[in-house]
Order: sequence, then C-alpha cells, then structure tokens
Amino acid sequence: MIDTSSEIDPCARCEEALQPYLDRELTKAEMAEAERHLDSCTYCRRRYRFEETLRRYVRQAATEEMPPDLKQKLAALRTPL
Ligand SMILES: [Zn+2]
Repeated sequence: MIDTSSEIDPCARCEEALQPYLDRELTKAEMAEAERHLDSCTYCRRRYRFEETLRRYVRQAATEEMPPDLKQKLAALRTPL
C-alpha cells in the first residue's frame, strides 16, 4: 500500500499513510514507521491530529445535524496547514 522503495521525502510518505493509519489499515511495521516519523516531525503530527479531530466531527455529524457555524469552523480549519 505504501511505497517504501522510492526516495520521496518522509513527509509525503507519512501523508500517504495518514488515511490508512486512521482507518487502522496499516500493518504493524507501517504503523511503527509512521509513528516514528510523527515523533520527530511536528508538521505531520499536526496533520494527523487535525485529521483525527476532523473525523471525530464527521462521525458526530453522521448522527446529528451539523450546525451551520460548525460547518464554517471546519471549512476554516481546512486551510491553515
Ligand atoms: Zn513529516
């Protein structure tokens, strides 16, 4: 799933792993690799945390009606990174 052979920069690989990571679809080795990178990279750590938060909101929105101001807040969160 994750291409480990190429020499693309670690952040790009980390980003590739983000969705499967949150979906718990990574192998143990891939998971460990992603976490190792997160330990040393503030940028990716912020990305992962943001996506996690976003998913929580989205899950919530699936069961509740999302208030318009929350939608706006999420839209505003989309860009800062
Ligand atoms: Zn990174």
